[in-house]
Amino acid sequence: MSSNVAISVRDLNKIYGVGSKNEKVALNNISLQVKKGSIFGLLGPNGAGKSTFINILADLVRKTSGHIDIFGMSHHKNLKDVKKLMGIVPQELNIDPFFTPYELLEIQAGLFGVPKKNRRTNEILKLLALEDKSHAYARTLSGGMRRRLLIAKAMVHDPEILILDEPTAGVDVELRANLWTNINKLNNEGKTIIITTHYLHEAEELCNEIAIIDNGNLITKDTTSNIKSLIDRKQIIISLDSKNFNLDPIIGLDVECEINSDNLIINYKPSKIRFNKILDALKLSNIQIKDLTINETKLEDVFLKLTKY
Ligand code: ADP
Repeated sequence: MSSNVAISVRDLNKIYGVGSKNEKVALNNISLQVKKGSIFGLLGPNGAGKSTFINILADLVRKTSGHIDIFGMSHHKNLKDVKKLMGIVPQELNIDPFFTPYELLEIQAGLFGVPKKNRRTNEILKLLALEDKSHAYARTLSGGMRRRLLIAKAMVHDPEILILDEPTAGVDVELRANLWTNINKLNNEGKTIIITTHYLHEAEELCNEIAIIDNGNLITKDTTSNIKSLIDRKQIIISLDSKNFNLDPIIGLDVECEINSDNLIINYKPSKIRFNKILDALKLSNIQIKDLTINETKLEDVFLKLTKY
């Protein structure tokens, strides 16, 4: 498995109901690559085409046209082999309540034809912090444990790529953080991770590469930091200790500033002016700083700009 590209997609199209009056283009000529070892976020609002994309990879939906390679192997021609390279974690918590996590993993391993001697049931349960619940009925598991169990199920055949469809939808903040920790852990073990999400914060925190899709179109695909740098803006908020200062040195800079109750707010373009220069001007202004906050560009700002919502 020498390829550094885990998934390569070229000109992928999906049209539901071709020729019918309900014809719907769900994916429009999508081309992208997912690097081996990355945590790749497929981001977009509801209806963007994220599940369609995942379902095509999982062979649950048939593409209309296009090419997909998994580690250099044609998805179409080597379906059986490429399916072994992927573990898909669905959105719904479809777990049989009358089996234990241990049993469910063993059944899943059987379905994938993993020989008994190669099974890693206990190891996977431990990795996902479910070892205490190995022999408890699934119906007694909490929501977070069920999500982790779904991830565990997707891992029984030791896939290189783990694909998670909206892993934290409807999950509270604490559980989300816990799932992120587990996802990072799996990534550190060498797994390539793909997650779909409409939570910008999740993509920003977790993913090193992001593709934004909207209405079936790929809007952008890049590293998270490059995407954030698409918006050249930073904001400094200074909480003022006194109003005894002279704003002229700051007004003379290429920045926008305003005074809002006890705060001085400076908006600037990092590509145009260095932070040091602003600090120098603040000193010259004789401003007494009580507190200072710097707001970086958020992925949300970029997303709003690119998708124009
Ligand atoms: P997302 O996962 O980003 O919310 P989907 O891939 O579920 O988006 O849907 C993309 C578009 O395709 C939506 O307009 C949706 O209504 C449509 N769609 C999804 N599945 C079907 C289907 N089985 N038949 C017809 N249209 C569908």
